[in-house]
Amino acid sequence: MSDKMVSTEPATGNVIWRGKAGNVDEVMKRAVGARGVWVRESVGQRMEAMRRFANEVLKHAEPFAELIARETGKPLWEARTEVEAVKNKVEISISAYAERTGQKKLDSALQGSAALRHKPHGVMAVLGPYNFPAHLPNGHIVPALIAGNVVVFKPSEKTPAVGEFLVKLFHEAGVPEDVVQVLHGGPEAGKALVAHPDVNGVLFTGSARGGIAINRKLASDPSKIVALEMGGNNPIVVLDTPKIEDAAVTIVQSAFTTAGQRCTAARRLVVIDSMYDEIVPAVKALAERLVVDEPFAEPQPFMGTVIDNETAELLMNSYDALASHGGEEILPMTRPDEDLPFLTPGLIDTTAIAERPDVELFGPLLQVIRVKDFDEAIAEANNTRYGLSASLIGGKPDEFERFWNETRAGIVNWNRPTNGASSAAPFGGIGLSGNHRPAAYYAADYCAYPVASTELDQPRASIGVGLKDSAKPTRKSKDAHK
Ligand code: NAD
Repeated sequence: MSDKMVSTEPATGNVIWRGKAGNVDEVMKRAVGARGVWVRESVGQRMEAMRRFANEVLKHAEPFAELIARETGKPLWEARTEVEAVKNKVEISISAYAERTGQKKLDSALQGSAALRHKPHGVMAVLGPYNFPAHLPNGHIVPALIAGNVVVFKPSEKTPAVGEFLVKLFHEAGVPEDVVQVLHGGPEAGKALVAHPDVNGVLFTGSARGGIAINRKLASDPSKIVALEMGGNNPIVVLDTPKIEDAAVTIVQSAFTTAGQRCTAARRLVVIDSMYDEIVPAVKALAERLVVDEPFAEPQPFMGTVIDNETAELLMNSYDALASHGGEEILPMTRPDEDLPFLTPGLIDTTAIAERPDVELFGPLLQVIRVKDFDEAIAEANNTRYGLSASLIGGKPDEFERFWNETRAGIVNWNRPTNGASSAAPFGGIGLSGNHRPAAYYAADYCAYPVASTELDQPRASIGVGLKDSAKPTRKSKDAHK
């Protein structure tokens, strides 16, 4: 099999990057060799290196954003917000390290001291997705480096150019080349990396299918840290609200930002009967107005392409399958150019489909489900094996309290979109969405392990009970001669 790789711009089909898949053994050898170098730096020095990295990001912000926009097909304005998030991750990770995995003195019963400190795991493999090709892997890389790990980062095979650019910025900031390396390749390279005996942890952001495969592969090796950030089939539930326009904006932002290619995007709009005739037409009217265009178009579009033609085709087929299995078309999803992966927002009522497939349709497609009351709405919100994000629109405080209590998800919002989570909060899901190792602020937790110590500057010890006088034999020792 050829190890040649090519990346093309989804919006134009032009080649943006050519390269080769990396050699896992060679990259791992260098990573293992670099472990000692990095861990011997003080945590303060590692934090300073990350601050220099933030400066490099700032210095190269515009070319970085342009590259992200070109390689993913997302609008430039949005790529700029991704670059901003990459930079901001540094200070957030420094606070998170200090708060969650720093050092502290503990009370000690002895005259000496007791301490809690954290150690790095060693070599961390970071596997990244294509939708936020810089921000999401960076969300693992920065905390892993602060904690003293070395990193091998395998970007998505669909966004190798962004992955390479990100790693170059760490090197320009003075992080040694072997401490953070890029390994190019597809799922095969990912599998080989995950299985490598010298990898101490796997930090994965991607599909449930990929995450489950990794989990299965490592099931017999409990020594490896595995953090899985996976997809969602996220509900946005509408109860009574007089604010129809605001509700429609929140729903449209939830479903169609990044052309629906966010793990937290709303996939299912669950509407109580009494609100249906107001909310659904308002969402449709707004979705129809969303501009879909290439990343650098002026004025800027709301959304660009999905990642590639194959994905666009898959989504169109999924839309058609829903329509032919009893779905009622509200706003048909279309593909204006057969050769390029632009899709217009789609809205389809799937209430009548008895067996709705519980899969993540990773694009600008929102299913509408009509329910009788709040009980049915909660049951429908939970009608998924995923559990990443859920939002309630409208309702009263006690209804949100009930929604919060009864909805199974790692992010539960009220009158706010399902997406756009803050990096200053933990970020993760349950069910098929994650394995209880949330990222963002809590990434610090899986990048280091706690070590408890009690310490004295000299050995000082005594035994208070049960010692015989060395001159006098005890009853037991006398008996022993009988
Ligand atoms: P993907 O699972 O196809 O690939 C992710 C990465 O893992 C890629 O680098 C890929 O090469 C690698 N990979 C795939 N299978 C592997 C295996 N068996 N072993 C080792 N490595 C493997 O995901 P994608 O299509 O690139 O990204 C989109 C998905 O990511 C969506 O499902 C989305 O919801 C999810 N996502 C989740 C989050 C989150 O934080 N929860 C954030 C963004 C995206």
